[in-house]
Amino acid sequence: MSRVPSKRETRTDRPEIMLGLSLISLLMVTVFIGLGRHLGTLWRLMGGLLLLGSGILLLGLVGLYLSLKGKTIQGWLLSLSQMAADILYPIALQVRRIFGLSRDAVQRSYISIRNLVTKMQGETVKSDQILVLVPHCLQWSECKVRITTEVSNCRRCGRCSIGGLLELQNRLGFSLYVASGGTAARRAVKETRPRAIVGVACERDLVSGMQDVRGIPVLGVTNERPNGPCFNTELDINQLEQAVLSLLNEKEEC
Ligand code: SF4
Repeated sequence: MSRVPSKRETRTDRPEIMLGLSLISLLMVTVFIGLGRHLGTLWRLMGGLLLLGSGILLLGLVGLYLSLKGKTIQGWLLSLSQMAADILYPIALQVRRIFGLSRDAVQRSYISIRNLVTKMQGETVKSDQILVLVPHCLQWSECKVRITTEVSNCRRCGRCSIGGLLELQNRLGFSLYVASGGTAARRAVKETRPRAIVGVACERDLVSGMQDVRGIPVLGVTNERPNGPCFNTELDINQLEQAVLSLLNEKEEC
């Protein structure tokens, strides 16, 4: 079902926000270490270790910068880039206040960086090894069909994105799970043991979900919330389809 793009969809994700904030965060940590150098040997020793860590994170950020510029970088540097984004994210979330940036903008930026790293790692899987996790709030609030236990119960009436998701699932063959919360999502991952995950959620839940997943490719797609948080949310099916296709072996693509 096609629909008019919402205002939020016209806004592009800005990975450079996270990169800039991470650099500033790193600079602040370095200045902080420098300020304490007169505090004694123990501090200097700790400061030395922290400086070494900062240097490694800086290398990761250089990797991110090169990735954003479209350069191909080595796998170890990509891993370092992801590690730098993960470690510096909580500090970046505080530093954003200086620049009046919204929490959502930083979270979207973090998600786009994680997506970029996953795509550059280039790991592909079979369609039935992909788990697409979507939030329950996508379901039309007045729909009485129980889809959290069995999504195929949906009658595809067109009132919400679930019907479109099922059509896409039929076409591409991935596993689909509607999660009522973080615990249910984690249980679905444990039970299905996917080789790759595409998560749909709000920025906050996506960030924590993506940080939870280790060792397999994960892509995040934010939902749209024209009716406010957690209520009759929407999904750009095309964006989800692109995410799934980017994880598929070429010969598996339809
Ligand atoms: S598309 Fe499915 S889940 Fe959505 S309102 Fe219709 S029957 Fe309910």
